[in-house]
Amino acid sequence: MKTDYDIIIIGAGPSGLSTALHLERDARDLRLATVILEKSQHPRPKLCAGGVLPEGEAILAKLGLDIRELPHTDVVKAHFNYKGSGLPVPLWGKAKTPIFRTIRRDEFDFWLVQNARKRGIEIRENVRVKDVLVDEDGARVVTDAGEFRAKVVVGADGSNSIVRRKVMGEAHPHVGRALEVITPLKSPPPSALSGISPQEGENLKPNEALFDFVPVPQGISGYVWDFPTLIQGEERRCWGIYDSNIVRKSERAPLQDVLAAEMAEAGYRLDDFELKGHPIRWYEPANQASTRHILLVGDALGAGALLGEGISPALGYGKVAADAIRSAFIRKDFSFRKYKWRLWRSRLGGSLWRRTFIAKLFYLFKRDFWQKLIWHCFGWLPGLIGWLLIVGWTPKKRDR
Ligand SMILES: Cc1cc2nc3c(=O)[nH]c(=O)nc-3n(C[C@H](O)[C@H](O)[C@H](O)COP(=O)(O)OP(=O)(O)OC[C@H]3O[C@@H](n4cnc5c(N)ncnc54)[C@H](O)[C@@H]3O)c2cc1C
Repeated sequence: MKTDYDIIIIGAGPSGLSTALHLERDARDLRLATVILEKSQHPRPKLCAGGVLPEGEAILAKLGLDIRELPHTDVVKAHFNYKGSGLPVPLWGKAKTPIFRTIRRDEFDFWLVQNARKRGIEIRENVRVKDVLVDEDGARVVTDAGEFRAKVVVGADGSNSIVRRKVMGEAHPHVGRALEVITPLKSPPPSALSGISPQEGENLKPNEALFDFVPVPQGISGYVWDFPTLIQGEERRCWGIYDSNIVRKSERAPLQDVLAAEMAEAGYRLDDFELKGHPIRWYEPANQASTRHILLVGDALGAGALLGEGISPALGYGKVAADAIRSAFIRKDFSFRKYKWRLWRSRLGGSLWRRTFIAKLFYLFKRDFWQKLIWHCFGWLPGLIGWLLIVGWTPKKRDR
């Protein structure tokens, strides 16, 4: 069994697979021996609402991949609301592009794995990394299937990244939390709910999505979502709550209670569904992104702080990391001193640090009065900020 590589990528999620796909496309001439080590076996479950923005699709398209090959739902309207009013965002531009599409992550990640394998990328599944040790010449990766060596190790292993913990230590964690449930498309009839009566018109149309900032005054720096999703051909709803924890508060309502109250408004009872939770680490520009022979990508470094959106950024990280690795092999300099700077300067990095900045500011306005003022009187303002500072970060057409 081969154990010596030029590059080892730890984690076959969107960030690890995107790094490998970009290396395969952009550094083919260097003939770098690359492997992805993944602790699970695809298709594997992954807790996620599966919202992919046009930026993610654009990165995939540049890699020759079309997300529409997968079962998906086009979101034709997204409502950014606070207590019933706010900003409805319709289809984009002349082409009437969906605001975003939802996919199931087991299907999406498996599809990326299959495409990576078709391009000759080696992926070893059921290999759990237990430790990473850096030395003069590279890094040693200790797994439950033996030891591996490489010149470069990419930590693409998600919010709980073992690479970050072992190599960089756990600095200030910058971690939020999300809870999620899957429900039927329509809420059960009121009679079945003993005491809960859905308000007229609370249910969204099947292809609409809701981001409701109602939890903010309750000490939660986040929102409740209600997205359409397609599971084995059946239309369902994906409900959840995100708390970035970016503005720390002494008093914070339990996430589960806030989600339950919101779902009850639409006629669902949370207790009827299986609730699952997972941390989301968000991007903090000051955090360490690399060290000698090691790079972090995706959630291992950080998703967007404002909304916890991380799939498209994960795909974007892959391109930045692949460029940095290519240049390291050409220059024979594996310090990765400038990786953090390279990321900051990239269009993805700019969008990520602006999101952190906006989240720190926005979630400070936690009083009901401020949220009402923002969403009821200046609902257009978040839309303008989002359009100017957050979305549209994919590389220009001329870039690869
Ligand atoms: C409830 C919830 C809802 C979300 N909804 C959305 C959404 O709608 N849209 C959006 O854009 N983002 C969403 N996100 C965020 C999104 O899921 C992440 O940002 C995204 O998955 C990051 O991709 P990644 O490749 O960096 O990490 P991951 O997808 O977490 O992949 C990491 C991979 O590494 C593997 N791994 C971990 N440890 C090891 C180890 N020790 N050895 C080997 N392999 C290992 C894992 O098995 C996994 O396959 C959501 C997150 C949560 C929790």
